[in-house]
Order: sequence, then C-alpha cells, then structure tokens
Amino acid sequence: MAGCLFCGIIDGKIPANLVYQDERVMAFKDINPQAPVHFLIIPRKHVAGVLDIAPEDHGLIGAIFAVAARLAREHGIADGGFRVVVNSGSDAGQSVFHLHYHLIGGRRMSWPPG
Ligand code: AMP
Ligand code: ZN
Repeated sequence: MAGCLFCGIIDGKIPANLVYQDERVMAFKDINPQAPVHFLIIPRKHVAGVLDIAPEDHGLIGAIFAVAARLAREHGIADGGFRVVVNSGSDAGQSVFHLHYHLIGGRRMSWPPG
C-alpha cells in the first residue's frame, strides 16, 4: 500500500535487517529494540491491524506464529521465554498500521506490561 512503511520494506525501497522471509511472511530487526532480541514479523500482504484480519487471513496468522517459534529457537530465547505482542490502536501505542508481531526476548520481563 502506498505510503506504508512496512510495505516499503517488503518492496525493498526501505532498508531493513531481515532475519526471515518466505512467500507470505517477513521478519526483521526492530529499529528501536526493547530487548536483546526484538524482531517484527509481518505478512507481505498489507493488513492494517488486528481489526482488519479477514477469515481468509487465518492461515497467514498461523504461519506468522510458526515463524515466531522458529525465530525464538534460532535466536536462543525459546527455553528462557519470550513474548509475541501486537499493539492495536492508540491506547496500546500502535504506531505503524501494517500488522506486525513483536517477538521480544533475552531478558526478564515484568507483568503487567506498561
Ligand atoms: P508499534 O508501536 O506496535 O506499531 O510498533 C512499531 C515498531 O516499528 C516500533 O517498535 C518501531 O521501533 C519499529 N520501527 C519503526 N520503523 C522501523 C524501521 N524502519 N525498521 C524497523 N523497525 C521499525
Ligand atoms: Zn503495508
């Protein structure tokens, strides 16, 4: 989608540190990491957010979680624990309106989140 930052990364117009890609999903390092491991996992298809996930996207969402598990194992945070986080809307602090799953790990985390 024109003007979408993450579509720009998918199209190769905006640089990113990719850690995974396949025909449906991409993952790259967050530019402002909140933990030793902080990746963003996104669908190549432009979906604005959680509220915009359509029934035909359900397989895609499953694929994103499979990538999260794979990356967690590959980057050594599977055993210690990690979070997969999606912010939706202004109260949650969503700042990019292309669906993205934060994979965060490598340090002890508190609950509830801020
Ligand atoms: P959210 O606040 O949940 O919408 O998360 C957006 C995330 O995108 C933030 O953690 C930002 O640090 C990250 N971000 C913004 N621009 C870039 C970029 N060009 N490359 C990688 N991560 C980015
Ligand atoms: Zn997009």
